[in-house]
Amino acid sequence: MEFKKSTGQTPGGPGAWIQRNLPLCPMCKHRSEWETAIGFALSLKRYYFRCSNCHAILSAPAADVVAVAPTPINLAIKPVPRLVRIEDAGQNEALEHLAGKEYGLLELQDWARET
Ligand SMILES: [Zn+2]
Repeated sequence: MEFKKSTGQTPGGPGAWIQRNLPLCPMCKHRSEWETAIGFALSLKRYYFRCSNCHAILSAPAADVVAVAPTPINLAIKPVPRLVRIEDAGQNEALEHLAGKEYGLLELQDWARET
């Protein structure tokens, strides 16, 4: 999988989505410059996000990511996207047991806030 550094400048793109929703990495809890990649699982398109600090990899269905384009209308209709999967715990060896599990975005945001 080829990760590209995202500027987050494309509205509605995966880079903008992850930077808006998870400016802090939920795994290493540092400010992250996420890299993004596109992949397919069971023929469904997914976006993959790799933390620039700890190299943890998260993923979410592309449909969930683009469904929360940054417009007030969309936010009102669909405030919470579905599940984010932890693909790889990266350098967070103590969190390796989380790999392969899925969590709600709000839960991951809570982790990122914990110090
Ligand atoms: Zn990280």
